[in-house]
Amino acid sequence: MKVLGLETSCDETGLAIFDSELIDSDNNGLLGQVLYSQIELHALYGGVVPELASRDHIRKLVPLFHELLEQCGINKNDIDAIAYTKGPGLIGALMTGALFGRSLAYGLGIPAIGIHHMEGHLLAPLMGANPPAFPFVSLLVSGGHTQLIAAKGVGQYEILGESIDDAAGECFDKAAKMLGLEYPGGPNIAKLAESGNPNAYDLPRPMLHRGLDFSFSGMKTAVHNLIKDTDGSGNGADSNAQVRADIAASFQHAMVDTLVRKSTKALKQVGMNRLVIAGGVSANRHLRETLETELAKINATVHYAPPALCTDNGAMIAYAGYERLQAGQSDDLAVSCVPRWSMTELPAV
Ligand code: ATP
Ligand code: MG
Ligand code: FE
Repeated sequence: MKVLGLETSCDETGLAIFDSELIDSDNNGLLGQVLYSQIELHALYGGVVPELASRDHIRKLVPLFHELLEQCGINKNDIDAIAYTKGPGLIGALMTGALFGRSLAYGLGIPAIGIHHMEGHLLAPLMGANPPAFPFVSLLVSGGHTQLIAAKGVGQYEILGESIDDAAGECFDKAAKMLGLEYPGGPNIAKLAESGNPNAYDLPRPMLHRGLDFSFSGMKTAVHNLIKDTDGSGNGADSNAQVRADIAASFQHAMVDTLVRKSTKALKQVGMNRLVIAGGVSANRHLRETLETELAKINATVHYAPPALCTDNGAMIAYAGYERLQAGQSDDLAVSCVPRWSMTELPAV
């Protein structure tokens, strides 16, 4: 079964074809994928401009679709079903992918299904051969979300804890900006941190001893104050290069430490021994390595997707669609997008 996945919830136009016959291949079941990022378009304005995002998705969807077909060496009639991101996200941006996908499916006479963007992230590490089995604890760490979820099956999600303010990825992006680094901040902080000392500065780990919720705004303020006190803004001379690397490494260390300790606590609380991490921040190498080490100590394992499937992409939407279509689910002709949507409202498979 070949499923076309469409992701247009924010500033990335992602299309991919998941082919269930390729599950055992090296490519995570992917026949092909294309991704176009609008980063440069929005950089001029210092943040994503919703209306510009919608227009750019419209401009890119058709050419990217043709590029994908060519890459996969297939005809549009070879597609068996279409999955599109239905929410959460920017309403205009969501509508472009949803309407394109729904209309194309109608034209081709095949089923279509609307997918929850965060379920796409959550299931991405399960693509391909030997996926981690349910139940597991999922740590969702992206640009807009930080959640610990007990996942008992597709669509069976219980939120154990979440951020009460900034998301982890957002915090990486803001800290990066303060250090004069470009968006997206996560990979740039990680790179700068390589030459820094993670123990140079002791940054706060907010709410460590209070349940499974997170709070990152205090960490952000601490980075701000640290930069002010040390002149690590990136505007000074070369002499502060080491200071900036030390701040990046200390920040990353505090963030990873917090995520690791809360994840360990969650596993213990629900009595599970598998942690599946997903979302853009799960691409972070320091986070992956620390989790490998710390979870081994409690006989638990950590699972994650290849870096390109951690950030936004069409493949995760195609795969989540495949899982639901397999269970007989699909959406009718009405297109309704849901800008704010909790994963706990999803039907089980
Ligand atoms: P959401 O999925 O919550 O709607 P989003 O789609 O914007 O938000 P993702 O695409 O999953 O989020 O992830 C983007 C985020 O991941 C950015 O904040 C980025 O800085 C962060 N990120 C990407 N790579 C890394 C990395 N190696 N280390 C830390 N953070 C990273
Ligand atoms: Mg994005
Ligand atoms: Fe995302």
